[in-house]
Amino acid sequence: MRAGRYAPSPTGQLHLGNLRTALLAWLFARHTERTFLLRIEDLDRVRAGAEAQQLRELEAIGLNWDAEPVRQSERIDLYEHALDVLRERGLVYECFCSRKDIAEATSAPHPTQSPASSAQLPDDGPSPHSAGRLLLPPGSYPGTCRNLSESERERRRRDRPAALRIDAARAAGTDGAPAHQVTDVLHGTVRAAVDDFVLRRNDGAFAYNLAVVVDDLTQGVDQVVRGDDLLSSAPRQDWLAGVLWDAGAIEVPGEAQDRPVTEYAHVPLVLNAEGKRLAKRDGAVTLEDMGVLDGLDGQDIPDTEPAPWTADRVRTVLLESVGLPGESLDAALDAFAPDRLPRTPWIFTGLD
Ligand code: GLU
Repeated sequence: MRAGRYAPSPTGQLHLGNLRTALLAWLFARHTERTFLLRIEDLDRVRAGAEAQQLRELEAIGLNWDAEPVRQSERIDLYEHALDVLRERGLVYECFCSRKDIAEATSAPHPTQSPASSAQLPDDGPSPHSAGRLLLPPGSYPGTCRNLSESERERRRRDRPAALRIDAARAAGTDGAPAHQVTDVLHGTVRAAVDDFVLRRNDGAFAYNLAVVVDDLTQGVDQVVRGDDLLSSAPRQDWLAGVLWDAGAIEVPGEAQDRPVTEYAHVPLVLNAEGKRLAKRDGAVTLEDMGVLDGLDGQDIPDTEPAPWTADRVRTVLLESVGLPGESLDAALDAFAPDRLPRTPWIFTGLD
């Protein structure tokens, strides 16, 4: 099954930026004749009622999907299984570092944890990195807890529960951090070193990077459309998908032998006048603010003058903001051409 998806986090109402990304995810899937799925990413920071509200908002702007939405909170067994498979292979280790520890450690050079030389990497794309080395992206984990002794781990467990990290170099069979690249419809080749990222947080919650990879593989998703703030996560997620696939950790739909190549499209965000990511405080940015739908707290739509917005008008504005005809979704789909989409953010200063 070839599928695209939209994967909202039910932390509140969707704003214009989220709705615009959802429209694009739908257009990409329909344009490539893929199934379109919804996945509710509710492992974290869930707000009561937000899921139902978000589904109403997506419906209001005319989107449809091809299966019941799945919830991450109901898929914990799948994440557990994937983690177990990695553990059995010795590819997971406990990490006791706080954010502060990592920030301090990464501000100093780490000669012993240098990533694999790019000479070991396939020479199949332009690399933005100099001197033949592929650098770890900022904020990458420097491997502090990778080689703790068992007695040291026991001692640390008494102070702080451990997070679990992937041992990326071991999984890849490289000396240092492996590198991985993906192809993005809007950004071209995106290549990065893969650090020992977190699989399970120290509060026991499965990490976004593990859950999203397990979900996309098990749901047959081979097209990922989302905001470009997640672009830097794509290489490590795609790399992990390969590790899990090769380890047979995932039950995949159909009879695929080879892992399908995922098409990525990281679309520009909507920003406010200060160039920051759009947020609720930026004025009328949700369908409730615009008087289109009741809100989460069930307040009635205010009786405003001039007449409130309609969902159709909102959709028109969003489609036109990506250079598409706004009169209907069908018209937008007919005209949809990924290579003509804007590459820069939409600066939102209010609707009129
Ligand atoms: N749940 C994430 C969000 O709402 C999207 C994750 C993804 O599409 O991979 O930003």
